[in-house]
Amino acid sequence: MEKFQQSMYDLIVETSTKLPKDVRRAIARAKVRENAGTRAAMALNTIVENIQMADENVSPICQDTGLPTFKIKVPVGVNQIEMKKAIRAAIVEATKNGKLRPNSVDSLTGKNSGDNLGEGVPVIKFEQWENDYIDVRLILKGGGCENKNIQYSLPCELEGLGRAGRDLDGIRKCILHAVYQAQGQGCSAGFIGVGIGGDRSSGYELAKEQLFRPVDDVNPIEELRQLEEYIMENANKLGIGTMGFGGESTLLGCKIGVMHRIPASFFVSVAYNCWAFRRMGVKIDPATGEIIEWLYQDGEDVDFAKELEKAEAAAALEQGDTRVIDLVPPLSEEQVRQLRVGDVVRISGVIYTGRDAIHKYLMDHDAPVDLNGQIIYHCGPVMLKDEEGRWHAKAAGPTTSIREEPYQGDIMKKFGVRAVIGKGGMGAKTLQALKEHGGVYLNAIGGAAQYYADCIKSVEGVDLLEFGIPEAMWHLRVENFTAVVTMDSHGNSLHEDVEKSSLEKLAQFKEPVFK
Ligand code: SF4
Repeated sequence: MEKFQQSMYDLIVETSTKLPKDVRRAIARAKVRENAGTRAAMALNTIVENIQMADENVSPICQDTGLPTFKIKVPVGVNQIEMKKAIRAAIVEATKNGKLRPNSVDSLTGKNSGDNLGEGVPVIKFEQWENDYIDVRLILKGGGCENKNIQYSLPCELEGLGRAGRDLDGIRKCILHAVYQAQGQGCSAGFIGVGIGGDRSSGYELAKEQLFRPVDDVNPIEELRQLEEYIMENANKLGIGTMGFGGESTLLGCKIGVMHRIPASFFVSVAYNCWAFRRMGVKIDPATGEIIEWLYQDGEDVDFAKELEKAEAAAALEQGDTRVIDLVPPLSEEQVRQLRVGDVVRISGVIYTGRDAIHKYLMDHDAPVDLNGQIIYHCGPVMLKDEEGRWHAKAAGPTTSIREEPYQGDIMKKFGVRAVIGKGGMGAKTLQALKEHGGVYLNAIGGAAQYYADCIKSVEGVDLLEFGIPEAMWHLRVENFTAVVTMDSHGNSLHEDVEKSSLEKLAQFKEPVFK
C-alpha cells in the first residue's frame, strides 16, 4: 500500500479541479436549453469558461472546496488505520499546494486549523465488502449548497403546495419544494440526492449517498424511476434558472433512494449540490495502493472550447437591451443610484473581501482601511504565497451573501460602502439600506473561481489574517470583474421577483400526480 497516499492526493486534485464526464454532459444539456442573450445564458457561459480554466490550470473549480467526504469499501484484512493516516497526509499536501482551501474551523473558537484537518475533518467512512479491490469515492461539497439541504417530516404543510402526506405524492411535493427553497443560493443549476425513510441522520446520509450515482443512470425501482423523471421535467418549469437569475435550467440531476423507517417517523431528506458537482472515485489495488481505474469516466466527454465560449459570453452581453457599465471605485452615491437591476457592471480597481468574520468584526471595530465609496466582495479565496512573499489568488469566486444579512446594511451605512458583490442575493433589511444609503448588490457567478481569479491582477494587501485565509480582508486589484446588478437603490430585487414568480409556478403542482 506504499502508493496509497499518492493515489489519494491524485484523487483529491482531480476531484477539486476537474468535473467528471457525466456532470459535464449535464451542464452542456443545460446550455442548450437556455436562451441566448439572457442573464442565465451569460452565467452558464461564465461557468463553462471557468470549468475550462480549472482544467487548464489544474486549479480548484470553486474556491469553496467543502468538507472532504470519503466513502471507502475495502476487502477484509485491509488496514484502515494506515489508510486514514495516508488520507490525512494527502489532504495536508493538497491544501499546501492550493488544491484545497483551508476549510476546517474550530466550532467554538473560530480558529482555522490551516491544513484542513480537525475533529471529524475530513469525513472518512469505511465499509467492508467481498470484492478484491478498494473502492474510494470523494465528494467536495461546499457550504453554499450544503446550507440548502433540507429535511421534511411527513405529513407537513408546504408553501405553495399544501399538504404533503405520507405517500409517493407527498414525497413528490417535498422534492419540488426543496428545489424551490434553494432558489439560486446553492449556485443553481443544481443536482439533488433524496433519501426517503431512515431517521434524521441516516436519511441525510442516504440522500448524500445518491449524489454518488452517475447522473445518467436509471433507478431500478420503478416508482422512483418515474418520480426522478417527473422531477427533472417539472422542477425546470419553476423558472429559477442559473444563479437564480430566472431561466430554463434549474435542476441538472435528481437521484432518489429509499430505506425502511419506524412507523412513527417519515422523513424525506434532500441533499442539494451546486453545479460545481465535484465527486470522483477510483478503484485501488490493495497490494500496492495504486489506482487501477478512474470512475465516472464512461461515455462521451464534452469539450468546452474556451475561445468559442468567450465569444459567446461577449455576444450574450451585447444582445438585447442589457446596459454594460464600467465602474472604478471609489464610487459616488450619484453613480450608484444610476444603476438598475439587470445592468451588467465591469469593475476595475481595488476591491476588498469580507465575509462572516469581517462583518461581525466591523460591527464594533473600525475598518482597517477607508471603505468610503468602496466595494466589499463576499469571497473566501484560495491564496498562495510565493517564495518572495507575494500572495496570489488561486481561486476567488463569490460566497453566499445571505449569511451577512444581519450586518450588511449597518456596515454599508457606518463605513460608506457603496456596493457589495456576492451571490444568491440578500434580504429585505439590506434592500432597505441600499435604498436609504444609496448602494447596490452585485451578483457574481457562484463557483466561477477561476474566471474571477483571472480578473485579479495583483494582491495589494491583507488585513485581519488572524481570522484565517478565507476570512481575512484581502485587497484585490481587479480588471473587468463582471457581475450583474440584482438589487438596486430603487427598492428593486431580482431575487425577490424570481422567488415570487417561482412560488406562483410551484402552485401548479399542488394537485396529486402519484396516487
Ligand atoms: S459553486 Fe457555489 S455552492 Fe458550490 S461550492 Fe462553490 S460557492 Fe459553494
